[in-house]
Amino acid sequence: MVTSSEKVALQVVQQAISALAKWANFAHPPLDNHEFSEVTRAKTILDWTPETKVGILSLVFDSVNLPNKPPKETTQHYHPLQVIDNDDKKYPDIPYPLNSAPTSEQQQAYKAEINNALSKYLKDNWENLSLLMLILEKFGSCLSFGEADVALVDIARTTAAVAVALLNNPTKEISLIAGDLSGIQKFIYSISSEGALKSLRARSFYLELVTEEVVQQLLEQLNLPRTNIIYAGGGNLYILASGTVENENIVQNIRQQFNKWLLKEFEGKVFLALDCLKFPVTELKDKFAEHWSKATKNLAVHKSRKFAENKISEFISPRYSHEPCRVCHRDDIENLKPLNSQEPDSVLACGNCRSMFDLGSQLLGVTAIVRSTNESVKNALHTLSFKINSREIHYHLFKNWKQIDHDSDIVLLVNDWQLEHYQFKHFQNAAPLLLGNYGKESKQDSEIPAEPRGFMRAGEMSEKAKGANRVGYLRMDVDRLGQIFAKGLGKKQTLSRLAGLSRQMSYFFKVYLNTLAAYINLKNPDTIKPDTPDEQGLNILFIYAGGDDLFISGAWSEIVEFAFEIYQAFRTYTGNNEHITLSGGISIDDIKFPLYQAAKTSGEAEEAAKGNGRDSLGLFGEVFKWDEWRGRKNFKHLDDDVKKYLDSEKLPSLFGVSPFVERLEQQDIGVNYSRNFVRNLLITAQIQEQALEKFKENKKSEEALGTRYYLHLPKIAYTLARLPKNVLEDSEFRTSLKNPYNAPYFRAIATWIELLNRG
Ligand SMILES: [Zn+2]
Repeated sequence: MVTSSEKVALQVVQQAISALAKWANFAHPPLDNHEFSEVTRAKTILDWTPETKVGILSLVFDSVNLPNKPPKETTQHYHPLQVIDNDDKKYPDIPYPLNSAPTSEQQQAYKAEINNALSKYLKDNWENLSLLMLILEKFGSCLSFGEADVALVDIARTTAAVAVALLNNPTKEISLIAGDLSGIQKFIYSISSEGALKSLRARSFYLELVTEEVVQQLLEQLNLPRTNIIYAGGGNLYILASGTVENENIVQNIRQQFNKWLLKEFEGKVFLALDCLKFPVTELKDKFAEHWSKATKNLAVHKSRKFAENKISEFISPRYSHEPCRVCHRDDIENLKPLNSQEPDSVLACGNCRSMFDLGSQLLGVTAIVRSTNESVKNALHTLSFKINSREIHYHLFKNWKQIDHDSDIVLLVNDWQLEHYQFKHFQNAAPLLLGNYGKESKQDSEIPAEPRGFMRAGEMSEKAKGANRVGYLRMDVDRLGQIFAKGLGKKQTLSRLAGLSRQMSYFFKVYLNTLAAYINLKNPDTIKPDTPDEQGLNILFIYAGGDDLFISGAWSEIVEFAFEIYQAFRTYTGNNEHITLSGGISIDDIKFPLYQAAKTSGEAEEAAKGNGRDSLGLFGEVFKWDEWRGRKNFKHLDDDVKKYLDSEKLPSLFGVSPFVERLEQQDIGVNYSRNFVRNLLITAQIQEQALEKFKENKKSEEALGTRYYLHLPKIAYTLARLPKNVLEDSEFRTSLKNPYNAPYFRAIATWIELLNRG
């Protein structure tokens, strides 16, 4: 009898559940006496012995060290014992690491929680791979198994994946399949953000489903269970399979078929890079990271060749061009219609863009998706169809999982951590789909009654902003991510640790970023609940968030503050490891601005942040380290010449950009005073910048430094003298602003205050 891959994976996952149950003193259903030989081998490869035990998990980020950076200070962190859970709320709490191991009382309480869940769900679902895997993900993401910084869920998943890859595999080789679906950046629309935002959000959701479909087809055709996905989301995927020639051909076929379809559907704007890297099973143990990096590098090669393996003739064959779609600019479509069917005078758009616009209106509150070969399914809210290689696949969207038929094919539950929903009595084949998908609901009633209430539009967001009615766009990503994966873990870079690292990194962007946006209270960041329910949740819309990056729009003042919150949350989440940082860029624009222009400006600001030695933010046309923006007195960013030059100066008590803005906001100095202050500060900054022009070549000369840090003094004294009495009495403010350490920040401070005070 041929052993099914599902059974092999199930055996591993049951054994992992058994280890969890043992730790929690729970009597689980009996295990199989017979262990598959592939499972035995996989466990040997991954150091899973009969003595391996569940324990307290220390933070894997603590082990990340980049070789070309100064060694970091080492502090040991631990995971809090906290189930990933959204039973009574929309998004799970963020598990910030602890400085000391959880106490025995905390362990007891956690064991009781595990007991509770296992006694409720195991009996009827002992063969339910999805549910067992979700139990491990929920409870086993904060527990170790074997080594102290390897999570139980990651050992379970990778062991299951390796065991399945060894099954029916005569080759002694393993394939690492790496994929990257790139292109969302090409869809930054040329129409104004007012109409474009939700379409773009829809487009990014659509591409997420395309990634899911690539994964589904790989799993189906390679005959793999979902546990073989090491990572998938945000357009990226890593899957383990046997290193057979058949598998290699399957991967190649899928790549060709998808690209043929993408070429036709998106005129080459979206491309699937898919690599299948073979290596000996024996190298799984010590050389996996090398292969992971190599596969990732191969993706870049695929991208550079692009559609070369598809028939290029289709691409260049002559065709008639028509009036271009106002949204995406394609000109091969004859019949354009108004983008919004409810508004006859809206811009003319192609069918694809119209359908994305409609989808954008429906996406708010979609919680379940059914993948099916049936074209229509009862109760579906919206259906997206893919026709790949003459086979049609449909994704049906639902607001409520209860509307879905029991015998549905594959059910994807969006950001749903409730074990209850994954039971066999509901679905045969359910899996969670994690999406960074926060979006504030519109409070405005649409003029058209038939239109469903959707995401807040750009105009409404701009009105919610403090001061100027503008929309902000934030782009952010993790610095040196490739290096972190390739070299960050040094000698410890095993398959399970890498899987853990990428899982936790992507949790931040797909899971916890939602939490942050939904529950943060900007008025008082120390409390999570806002004053009134209406204020709950930021007035922003995620365009995409996943993997290691994000693109978010919203009320500009909230976008600026949210960027600081994200940075703070991310640094805390990664144990304040100096080698794991973010860079970001923000643009602030009028809603009438074409979206592509706004996106371009935020992209350039992000580039500038990367160019500033990373760990920086580009905002208001300026770029500084996050600590300078946030007013943290950390002077590591200053180079030695500057430090020497400023040596005799006392450090100011207020430092950087935001402390001054906050102080003035609190003082509420009135529009006239504020205008004068801003004007004078800008003039000072300008004098400084003009004077610095002379020293273009050598910014570190004595004279240049003098210009940078001291030239402003008389002007600042003048500016300060004209402020209201209560500000002048604030000696901290006065002396700090005059302090040379703060000289570089005048323009940023002035611009920020100016935007806040513009009515
Ligand atoms: Zn179009």
